Amino acid sequence: RSTRLRDPLDGLDPEQRTAASAPRGPVCVLAGAGTGKTRTITRRIAYLVRQGHVAPTQVLAVTFTARAAGELRARLRQLGVEGAQARTFHAAALRQLRYFWPRVVGDTQWDLLDGNKLRLVGHAANKLGLPTETEVLRDLASEIEWAKASLVGPDEYPTVARTRRRDIGHPAERVAEAYRTYEALKNERRLLDFDDLLLHTTAALEEHRGVAEEFRDRYRCFVVDEYQDITPAQQRLLDAWLGGRDDVTVVGDVNQTIYSFGGASPRPLLNFTRRYPDATVVRLERDYRSTPQVVELANRVISGARGRPAGTRLRLIGQRPDGPRPTFAEYDDEPAEAAAVARQVRSLVDTGVPAGEIAVLFRVNAQSETYERALAEAGVPYQVRGGERFFQRPEVRQAMSTLRTAAAAESRTSAAASSAELPAMVGDVLATVGWTPRQPSGGAARERWSGLQALYELAEELTAEFAALAGQRPTLTRYVAELEQRAAAQHPPAVDGVTLASLHAAKGLEWDAVFLVGLADGTVPIQHATTDEAVEEERRLFYVGVTRAREHLALSWSLSRSPGGRPHRRRSRFLHGLVPEAEVPGRVRRPSRRRAGARALCRVCGRELQSTLEVKVGRCVDCPSDLDEELLERLRAWRAEKARELKIPAFVVFTDATLVAIAEQR
Ligand code: ATP
Ligand code: MG
Repeated sequence: RSTRLRDPLDGLDPEQRTAASAPRGPVCVLAGAGTGKTRTITRRIAYLVRQGHVAPTQVLAVTFTARAAGELRARLRQLGVEGAQARTFHAAALRQLRYFWPRVVGDTQWDLLDGNKLRLVGHAANKLGLPTETEVLRDLASEIEWAKASLVGPDEYPTVARTRRRDIGHPAERVAEAYRTYEALKNERRLLDFDDLLLHTTAALEEHRGVAEEFRDRYRCFVVDEYQDITPAQQRLLDAWLGGRDDVTVVGDVNQTIYSFGGASPRPLLNFTRRYPDATVVRLERDYRSTPQVVELANRVISGARGRPAGTRLRLIGQRPDGPRPTFAEYDDEPAEAAAVARQVRSLVDTGVPAGEIAVLFRVNAQSETYERALAEAGVPYQVRGGERFFQRPEVRQAMSTLRTAAAAESRTSAAASSAELPAMVGDVLATVGWTPRQPSGGAARERWSGLQALYELAEELTAEFAALAGQRPTLTRYVAELEQRAAAQHPPAVDGVTLASLHAAKGLEWDAVFLVGLADGTVPIQHATTDEAVEEERRLFYVGVTRAREHLALSWSLSRSPGGRPHRRRSRFLHGLVPEAEVPGRVRRPSRRRAGARALCRVCGRELQSTLEVKVGRCVDCPSDLDEELLERLRAWRAEKARELKIPAFVVFTDATLVAIAEQR
């Protein structure tokens, strides 16, 4: 299926072409969501390779999430470019560090600090007599991350924290001490955290001439996607990679800056032309991703943004045919919202939309579980993005332990003698824990299968990668090592199913149908966004969410968290002026005790009235009234049908609101 022969500039508009075919040297694409930035850079890589300007192995493309890097690799493969590297900054750094490590440090063994970071921060806090509640430790850990990403050491921290008005509720000096202690403990134990990967790689390139020279021979062409979210630490690494050269293409959208709380800044993107005055600069404004209906909503969301730098006010122009209008819905509580979303997802799948083309996006990962449960109940396979939980799934743990045993056996019998292909070997092992080549039917079985299938597909992926690199075949041992590495880096393989992801993890991606859930004030914008800047970042995050949808976009929120809870929340302030009030469907209410107390009775038969319509006329649908007979007939027929479906006595059900509430309780 390779499109090897296609012209890399095919299917690009004139501006995209200009960027893709610019001569080697600095190129900057500043453009809104869905305008083809990522498409343009993959085509540019293909173009430069095809023209013989660089060898694919001399290209290093970087981005910010594992999924986005995977997407880049997939697009490059489709273009027939094999061997170009597309990785996250961290993955690229990890790989380089592994390679240079012995020369830089000697042969002492260092390990990645994976899941134990909070524990180490806890030790540090404890040593200093700081509180050790998980919340506090989380805040401390992310503040240390911010400092390292911003290239701020423990000594400078107090001053910088004051000028940047960082406030995590502890005196800056105490935070600095915790930071210093954490670093010391980490070094004592010979551990590296994620930020160290960037810092150490940069140091290796800056301080070891041999390393730098070798690196410069190896990589000659650099590409950065999502450049608006680069941190100072990443920029410094990029500079070390470039080593004074200027063969760098950057693309980004200032309106999608969503990591500034973590130290990222769009400034390098905005200042790119100042740094490289002869850069090729291109602006794109045609949106190829979404229907005009989605584009219109996106434009309105971002036009409300405050404090944007000059020249970044951009209106997207939709290019696709019309589609359905975005929908808005309000629910009483989160489980009701999740159940309704799962139902809609199910019906999209039933009408032929592939599950992999649907996403449910939320603001905080804690929201995931409610949706996981609702989707599992609806029998829809799903995957969790940003997805530390993949490796905790019982079937995945079981499969991994079996695979480890098999790999150990392999290394005893000499791997080279094995003639089987890796996917076949992995398939055989997975079969012992219940994997089959075909997808089973039935919710739970399909769910379990999707996890095992992802492990199988990873074997195929690895085999293809090896074949492309050096015509080699990976062993089972190598495959298991890859799995262990991914588990440590919390980088799960792709599962084919509905994507559950945080808005942050969804950046750069797209789906046919997107459900933006939990759009209540306090969640979007998040409660702790108290400054204007923080609220603006939340708005951009919302914008990122809206612009992920190709066709179907459903926005929803609920008024309380748990069933029966006080409806204390309001819809997100970002929705003001966007929601066509007449179109928000009647809120889905659970029958509440209070309302039952104030019940109205039919004036003719005395039975309790259930629908607002009946209350209005004072009679139930079964008694004679002024209501249009045809309407009554329709109501009765519908009620009977629903009652049969739900196996409940017909008189209980009247309105769709009650019905849905009852359906959800089953
Ligand atoms: P984001 O800011 O969200 O990362 P982007 O600018 O990187 O978006 P892409 O993902 O490259 O946008 O493109 C969005 C969609 O539009 C993709 O499906 C892509 O294939 C399609 N697309 C881009 N350019 C064109 C074009 N010239 N003709 C047709 N489709 C296009
Ligand atoms: Mg993109």
